[in-house]
Amino acid sequence: MLFFRFCEFLEGLEATSSRLEMADILSQLYKDLSDQEARIAAYLVLGQIEAPFRGLETGLSDKLIIEGISKACNIKQENIAKLYKDLGDLGLVAERSIKWSGRSLELLRVYGEILQIAKDRAMLNKLMGFINLLKGLSPIEARYAVRIVLGKLRLGVGESTLIDALALSVSERELKPQIERAYTLCSDLGKVAMELKRGGKEALEGFKLEVGYPVRMALAERVKDAQELFQRLGPCALEAKYDGLRLQVHKANQEVTIFSRSLENITHMFPEVVEETKNLEINNIIFEGEAVILDEESGEFFPFQAIVRRKRKHQVEKYAKEMPVNVFVFDILYLNSQDLTNLPLIERREHIEKLFKRGRLRPSELTFIKTPEEIEDFFESVLLRGLEGIMAKRLDGIYSAGARNFNWVKLKRSYRGQLKDSIDVVILGYYSGKGSRVKLGIGGLLVGIYDEINDEFLTVSKIGSGFTQEEWQSLKSKLDEIKLNQKPKNVKSILEPDFWVEPKYVISVEADEITLSKLHTAGMDKSQRGLALRFPRALGYIREDKTPKDTTSPEELRRLYELQPKVSVE
Ligand code: AMP
Repeated sequence: MLFFRFCEFLEGLEATSSRLEMADILSQLYKDLSDQEARIAAYLVLGQIEAPFRGLETGLSDKLIIEGISKACNIKQENIAKLYKDLGDLGLVAERSIKWSGRSLELLRVYGEILQIAKDRAMLNKLMGFINLLKGLSPIEARYAVRIVLGKLRLGVGESTLIDALALSVSERELKPQIERAYTLCSDLGKVAMELKRGGKEALEGFKLEVGYPVRMALAERVKDAQELFQRLGPCALEAKYDGLRLQVHKANQEVTIFSRSLENITHMFPEVVEETKNLEINNIIFEGEAVILDEESGEFFPFQAIVRRKRKHQVEKYAKEMPVNVFVFDILYLNSQDLTNLPLIERREHIEKLFKRGRLRPSELTFIKTPEEIEDFFESVLLRGLEGIMAKRLDGIYSAGARNFNWVKLKRSYRGQLKDSIDVVILGYYSGKGSRVKLGIGGLLVGIYDEINDEFLTVSKIGSGFTQEEWQSLKSKLDEIKLNQKPKNVKSILEPDFWVEPKYVISVEADEITLSKLHTAGMDKSQRGLALRFPRALGYIREDKTPKDTTSPEELRRLYELQPKVSVE
């Protein structure tokens, strides 16, 4: 397909905010694509260059793009900068500035050039690559190419819309569950789209786990107390719930890759885990565990922050030597080319105990129980050690990739007593300050949660407390970098903050209560009442370990609402 034609589809997508229409346009697009193009188109319409876990970005800033447009179009840089000030979108700036040479390039060729820009390490090469690319494009192509390069395509197309479109494109709606399954196994919609194009239904049915492609992680449901836990699971396995970072570790021969819960590649954070995994005498494996820093002598755990600081790349080696992590392995998904996800928990556990002895990688502490009283006992013993709670697992439960169900259940300390559990929310916008905060220019946040089913963000609260002056200041400058001219298409809100921002930063908040409110859209019921937080306050600063899609889900929030002792109505 010509890139020009592809851009016409992008234009159609940009013009609508209806998910149905988007799916329809995308399904038409997919009918015209080759298998390679199908892969690329998936990334591009989602605003990516590659599957997100590859972490690939072009790394070109607004400033360099301005310089590039100026050089490619032979227009003075200050004029380009001025046009940018007027239009607020470098894609439109490029569109207005470009004079077309008359040729039309293939989508594959344009993508190849963008990929090259992203892979090149030297800024100068990136810039030259961008200038060359721009010189070969027509105005509308330049508009979209610039937005793609900047990572600001923002069509409002989400994964579930694309999945609907893929099913529609082969005229088999019933294929949707298989497409979803393939996606949970590889987390790469480009790969799924390509396989579907190549081999249709059979290709999807034969889709397998592959080392190096992260599996969407299994999640846990909540229960109120030990009684409810026992009612739901009966005799089951109990494990300590460690408060660390969840790792999914992949090994093929001597190559080790580590993914976070949000499927980011975080291999660089854990050199000691890479080393230990290399030493395992097996060819290939995928396992999961919680990384914590354990003080072997006292048996106590260091706070979560001690691990998260490794996100900033410097000094990781030093931390790894001075305060190495322990990984408590709690699941195994793949071993010696065998997919184990459909085995019952007990059989997976046997593999874990055979493979991991007491070292840096060790089996999670686990006990089998037969009565609710035993649950209470284990819970107490775990709390005494300063852990946050327990995980209960169904003995015959499979590994439910990407699903939250009662195969895994969590019981946390916070459920005893009133609502104390923290909720993870994403910042959607901010209010300019009032009173003493006028000077700061920021006084409150509009926050929300992600709804996976409808692929949208729903508001849950306004937050004005929990940050220090310095934190407010630093937050404002971070938010100003992702400020938007209008509400993003994938945000559903009744309230209107002073400034909308791209949903990006996650924070944890605590509230006195979850209430019903007509002002918020999270978990809205038939009577148009959503779930809202009463007296919310932020806990700490930005959660660097979470992406916007890792917020508390509407279903979880509803469950928390139901679990709380008393509810008042606004
Ligand atoms: P939550 O983040 O509250 O939904 O709890 C689920 C998380 O608990 C998982 O994603 C893991 O990171 C963590 N976790 C800690 N210990 C365990 C364990 N033994 N089994 C499973 N998950 C665990």
